[in-house]
Amino acid sequence: MPSTLLFGELTRDSLRALSTEAIALVPLGATEQHGRQLPAATDTMIASHLAESAVRLVGDDAKVVLCPAMPYGFSEHHVPFGATISLDSDTYIRALASIGRSLSKSGFKRLIFLNGHGGNAAPGATAADRLVTELGLNLAVGVLNYWDCIDESVLASLPMPAPGHAGQFEASLLSALRPELVRALPEDRGAEIDDASRPLNVSDRMTGTTRFPQMWQASDGVTDTVSRPDPQLGSELLETASVAIAEYIKSFDAATR
Ligand SMILES: [Zn+2]
Repeated sequence: MPSTLLFGELTRDSLRALSTEAIALVPLGATEQHGRQLPAATDTMIASHLAESAVRLVGDDAKVVLCPAMPYGFSEHHVPFGATISLDSDTYIRALASIGRSLSKSGFKRLIFLNGHGGNAAPGATAADRLVTELGLNLAVGVLNYWDCIDESVLASLPMPAPGHAGQFEASLLSALRPELVRALPEDRGAEIDDASRPLNVSDRMTGTTRFPQMWQASDGVTDTVSRPDPQLGSELLETASVAIAEYIKSFDAATR
């Protein structure tokens, strides 16, 4: 199996040589509060892991250069809780567009953002439109949310909000990757909120996009409390997502060659 091509470990000559053919893959993470049990870099760790494992699965079927993960995302809704470093929406769209523009100027013609954070999804799509449609760069851009790669029926069958935020779903994924970073539920549980009635979950069950003031605060910043992270389920979900991301990369490669 070929070793993964890491942007940060290559020279300008080898990157220039690779750029015309290879897909640049940029994991999109976030640095934001993940409740009282998960670490702030949860989304970055998951997106980075999935990018690496998908590239391994793609193997020789497509040439991919794995770029450094973007550790900051659009996380304004988490700022009130602390433990968050956020780029506001305009800055974040411009940051992603700048990444795409400089990769394009470096010779790359194809770029995939692999997203690990819900707040990045809409700005990511806008950045893709800006790069390709508005700026008219000779660059194909894909934006892929990892949870969209898991079959909808699988997500719907899970006994927790999926993907949710800082709840059982993310805790299960992280407990498969970095179990030592998943903390036990503190004895002082703070406000006990029934998961089904958290405003985040209520709005998620509605069609369309719903935002209202204090929505996150009234949900205590999480979709559900982590009581039983399931590393077995987590590793199955990571595997399923990795396979689907690899398939996406191969389809993107065929469609944009
Ligand atoms: Zn997260």
